Amino acid sequence: MLYLVEHFYSIQGEGKYTGVPSLFFRFGGCNLKCEGFGCVEKTPNGEEIVGCDTVYAVDRRSFGNLWMEIEELQTLIWIMNGYKLPPHVDVVLTGGEPLIYANEPIFIEFIEHLIASGHRVTFETNATIAPDFNKYPFYKEVTYALSVKLSNSGEPYEKRVKNEVISAIVANTRGSFFKFSVDEPSLGCAMEEEIDDIIIHHPYVSTYCMPLGGDKAHIEANCEAVIELCKRRGFIYSDRLHIRIWDQNHGV
Ligand code: SF4
Repeated sequence: MLYLVEHFYSIQGEGKYTGVPSLFFRFGGCNLKCEGFGCVEKTPNGEEIVGCDTVYAVDRRSFGNLWMEIEELQTLIWIMNGYKLPPHVDVVLTGGEPLIYANEPIFIEFIEHLIASGHRVTFETNATIAPDFNKYPFYKEVTYALSVKLSNSGEPYEKRVKNEVISAIVANTRGSFFKFSVDEPSLGCAMEEEIDDIIIHHPYVSTYCMPLGGDKAHIEANCEAVIELCKRRGFIYSDRLHIRIWDQNHGV
């Protein structure tokens, strides 16, 4: 069984495929909490919850009654068919952490179906869980946006950086890329060294850096420092178009 938080057809707002029309499926649940990001979201009961910019897709206790239980592949296919989509449209699986479902039969069937139908599929992942590439070789056809969490997430190093997982994903896939959320205060506190520590093992994988924030004001406060970092280090700057345009991170 899968928890689906939301689905929407929009443009990809960040990373390598920024601007590409994409159908998004946001799945519920994550193996991290990232409370260090300090984004605040109101629950349906009016309670304020602190977490990452998609805490509504992470915290099942507070937001789970808004999540939809998916018990069969056909439901996901009906959802897709409900949109007027161009052929082979990009499909983005995000969360939460979509790969907590990597061994779930419905998820497996869904990815296999999407790949077989000619869609480019991207996982937006925290890169702490690797799918079984030998048992399910179609996972090699997916692009992985490796959003490895840094210390500003508030998570302990051993929980957020799994070098063996990153290596397995990089070794088994072609177009995967790193995508880091960076804020100005953390750049003065060794964040650059943290990024280096992760990317040093993978010199041929592109590194995108984007400003941290769940709303426009937060993004604007961080973007110039991120641009300077990218200029200095040759990283690729990624904006967060969906937040710039719609000032929110929910499905738009
Ligand atoms: S890994 Fe991503 S989805 Fe999970 S808590 Fe951290 S920022 Fe949120």
